[in-house]
Amino acid sequence: MSRPFRRLDIAGTALRDLDGLQFLRVLPESLEQLAAAAFHDLSYYLRPDFLDELTAVAADPATCANERFVCGALLRNAMIAAGGVLPLCQDTGTATIFAWRGERVLSGGGDEAALARGVARAWRENPLRDSQIAARSMFDEVNTGDNLPAQIDIRFAPGSEYHFMFVAKGGGSANKTLFHQGSKALLNEDALAAFLAEKIRQLGVAACPPYFLSVVVGGTSPEENLRTLKLASTGWLDSLPAAGDGRGAAFRDLAWEARVMKLAAASGWGAQFGGTHLALQARVIRLPRHAASCPVSLGVSCSAHRNMLGKITADGVFLEALDRNPARCLARLPPDTLAATAIDLDQPMPEILKQLAALPPGTLVSLNGPMIVARDMAHARFRERLRSGQPLPDYLMRHPVCYAGPARTPAGHAIGSFGPTTAQRMDDYLDELMIRGASRVTLAKGNRSEEAMCACVKHGGFYLGTIGGAAALIAKEHIVASEVIDFAELGMEAVLCIRVKNLPAFVIYDNRGGRLY
Ligand code: SF4
Repeated sequence: MSRPFRRLDIAGTALRDLDGLQFLRVLPESLEQLAAAAFHDLSYYLRPDFLDELTAVAADPATCANERFVCGALLRNAMIAAGGVLPLCQDTGTATIFAWRGERVLSGGGDEAALARGVARAWRENPLRDSQIAARSMFDEVNTGDNLPAQIDIRFAPGSEYHFMFVAKGGGSANKTLFHQGSKALLNEDALAAFLAEKIRQLGVAACPPYFLSVVVGGTSPEENLRTLKLASTGWLDSLPAAGDGRGAAFRDLAWEARVMKLAAASGWGAQFGGTHLALQARVIRLPRHAASCPVSLGVSCSAHRNMLGKITADGVFLEALDRNPARCLARLPPDTLAATAIDLDQPMPEILKQLAALPPGTLVSLNGPMIVARDMAHARFRERLRSGQPLPDYLMRHPVCYAGPARTPAGHAIGSFGPTTAQRMDDYLDELMIRGASRVTLAKGNRSEEAMCACVKHGGFYLGTIGGAAALIAKEHIVASEVIDFAELGMEAVLCIRVKNLPAFVIYDNRGGRLY
């Protein structure tokens, strides 16, 4: 993979000559600093070619207005994040490191621990979000507080260089990974096309498209298939040959990549609120397989497409140079043409419901006023209260509820990077809340279940969707105040009351069974 690199100011690597062979000495501190720098950069910057693709969609007059709106917002988000304060997304991800260590690299061992220390340092030194939860028993869990453990996979390679692929993978994006153990019956044009069409339709938009969509067919084991999938989604496998050799070499199937792109366009999901740009790119990798198995996986890298290369060579320690000037893309965008209906959230809830009832699904609204922020753990607590005979908190009746959990708040800001989380995870709670007059208006991202839509109809509720993956933009331009009002001990999952200003959202489900998707 040919990418631009920048040299880091990190000492501690040197070539040693032993028995006529050159060995590269790498200190653990160098690995720690490299990982810390990588996850800092991944939190704030994107690859230039990815930004160019978003720009092409946003600037294309043939693109539907909703998609231009989303891609334009993602570019403005990238510009704000590149300021180095508010990370690109509130879900700063699981730190994942693939490494290929040359057989003539001497580090003294402990590489995994050194890289993990670098991960913890990146999360400690920047206003990111600690997302890793450790179990103390089957059901008792606690946040680890430093975003560890990281997923670290080190393999040997020839030579005296150390190569890395750093990935910050959000939970919503990871949750879209699908694995299917198929058979030879899947390996024909019609069966594979039907399988992929169905799975792509099921993807939905909860992982904040436009996606980098990958498919892997085959593999000597399920785990090898899924490892390949993750690497494919970073572009690491882009230089594979375009045909198999009959001896087991992996290859890219370019014709199927084109078909996957067509299937993604035909799904109708688009870049979050309908259209044809569910995916910006596709990769289809074919691997060898056991005659009795045919593992197939499909996965996405979301609009926070956070992958970067690193390397340690005799010349020093290097990281891929990401784009620090996304503002260059904004000049190419046409003016926004979407008009929004303003909704005053300071009104009593019946008035808010009345105003929303007059709007068809797909309407863009601009929200102003107070909202409650609550996600998974808070909803589990609401249920506990109900089970123990206590009433629900009054704030759930009075205000719309946004499912979200922000990153840490940087000094001088009202809130840290803030974006909606996947609405479907709260579907199980919706009916029992709405029946009690709570959560009548909810705001998050992605499509929801039939049960959630039915709850809206039964109880006169609405579900709105705001842009996923634009967390720096939302924090900087659309949230003016924030305070913890309940369950402070839940950290980033505590219940907040925020005040929003001109927050854009689309009506996804209405109270009559109407839906955008
Ligand atoms: S952009 Fe969306 S899917 Fe990706 S990490 Fe952020 S919230 Fe998750």
